Amino acid sequence: MDAQSEQLLQGVSPDLAARVRALAATLAARNITIRVKSAKRSTVQQAALYANRANNPYPVAVPGTSLHEQGRAVDLAIVGRGTWAEVGSAGEAVGLRWGGRFSKPDPVHFELQAGTNTATSTPSLAATPTPSSTAAPAPNYGWLVLGALVAAVLFVD
Ligand SMILES: [Zn+2]
Repeated sequence: MDAQSEQLLQGVSPDLAARVRALAATLAARNITIRVKSAKRSTVQQAALYANRANNPYPVAVPGTSLHEQGRAVDLAIVGRGTWAEVGSAGEAVGLRWGGRFSKPDPVHFELQAGTNTATSTPSLAATPTPSSTAAPAPNYGWLVLGALVAAVLFVD
């Protein structure tokens, strides 16, 4: 994913970050590009969003109740082609709960299912922005292989 998305993923549950990366890889293989637009929010940030909710095209949770405040939700954007139905079903395939199915649909929103890992990254890491190069996790060869496969699919044409 792009650098800004990766930086935002540093603030959320590692389980959520891994699933969002898997979603991005799945979609990239279908020539759909996503970005993370919003991830962990402080309660102050959620309150500001809530106060301005009349100008938001999507539902905004009451401060103190949003999974964004727990680092368990992200809001995504589609860059270029692709539909929320495609991205939503792909998100469900990697185990995320998709806001497009909420009673007040929130198609940009993806969250961890209840009962999955609640750990978030350390507060010191979240409070002190570090260059993504130093914050990057150790190499994961599974992702390298997947990346190579995605690259092969994209360049065989
Ligand atoms: Zn959201």
